[in-house]
Amino acid sequence: MGTVEDVRIARRTGFCYGVREAIDMAKESAAAGRLTHTLGQVVHNEGVVAELQAQGVRTVDSLEDVSEGTAVVIRAHGVRPDVMERAVSRGLEVIDGTCSWVTAEQRQLQRLVDEGYTIVILGTPRHPEVVGLLGFAPDAIVVDDEEDWDAIPRKKRMALITQSTQPPWKFERLAAHMVHRAHELKIVNTVCPVTIRRQEDTVEVARAVDAMIVVGGRHSANTKELTRLCEIVGTPVVQVEGVEDISDPALFDGRRVVGITGGTSTPIEDLEKVACRLLEIAGSPSIAGREAEIARVALEAAATPAGRTTSLPRGQDPASLHAERRPARRPDPESAARATSPQDAAGAVVR
Ligand code: SF4
Repeated sequence: MGTVEDVRIARRTGFCYGVREAIDMAKESAAAGRLTHTLGQVVHNEGVVAELQAQGVRTVDSLEDVSEGTAVVIRAHGVRPDVMERAVSRGLEVIDGTCSWVTAEQRQLQRLVDEGYTIVILGTPRHPEVVGLLGFAPDAIVVDDEEDWDAIPRKKRMALITQSTQPPWKFERLAAHMVHRAHELKIVNTVCPVTIRRQEDTVEVARAVDAMIVVGGRHSANTKELTRLCEIVGTPVVQVEGVEDISDPALFDGRRVVGITGGTSTPIEDLEKVACRLLEIAGSPSIAGREAEIARVALEAAATPAGRTTSLPRGQDPASLHAERRPARRPDPESAARATSPQDAAGAVVR
């Protein structure tokens, strides 16, 4: 017999704005009648990919799989500049869904290259965002875990920059490690604020509940960091990829209130499903029959206007519960210039 009576969903969860915008761009392109592709899965979430497929958006692994004149969406992680150029030269309509934060990161990296720094990138070496960054700085040294750090050479002028979803403490620790390795060290902090806010909200919930569930990709850096933070708080935590992994009620034995949070590629709707399933398998008899209602209330409490993130078309339920706010894009003069270039007719880049 279960003991869980209530669930709390962290305040700012669901897709980060970068992921959401890329998904929305793909949906809008397909809805406008274009044959639309995404270069790589827009998020590693089968439900989202299936939903996009149902709306006519196909996922391809290579530009060679996209026919001339059709649209290809660049996902939020961005791509190497040569990939972008090749897409345009092949006559594709390129819909640039690179997150504005990542675009700014790429520009800052390019500046460091132009200024002649030896560059260190903190990131997961094969993560698409890092692969894209290396297109701007092919000689950059990518390091991840602390055991890699001693391999960083000693150079006169060094610069440190990071993949957007790396934890801030790791970035700070690496910066301190590098201080002794360079005469001049330039530090460019590109940790995404969305990641930081999500961590803060996760800690807030973890402190107030008896157990936590973190929903997201098993290999996702930002998801793993949320799990680690719950452990630091001292709250028992289970990390799952989705609702299908919620199957063992024994994990929640004796817990009354369970908190739920998710990585930046996890749809907020998935958190509601996880909440509902948890209550079904581990709920106390006192809440029997009200599982869906309790899960919905938890979602509504999380989905504040300031934090609402979803891939649902604007205005569609449950977004209609609250006004949705799209963060303003940073001005992007380069993209604006590209979008109004003569290439617009064929092989255009659109944002
Ligand atoms: S985590 Fe931040 S930088 Fe990365 S895609 Fe999301 S909003 Fe953009």
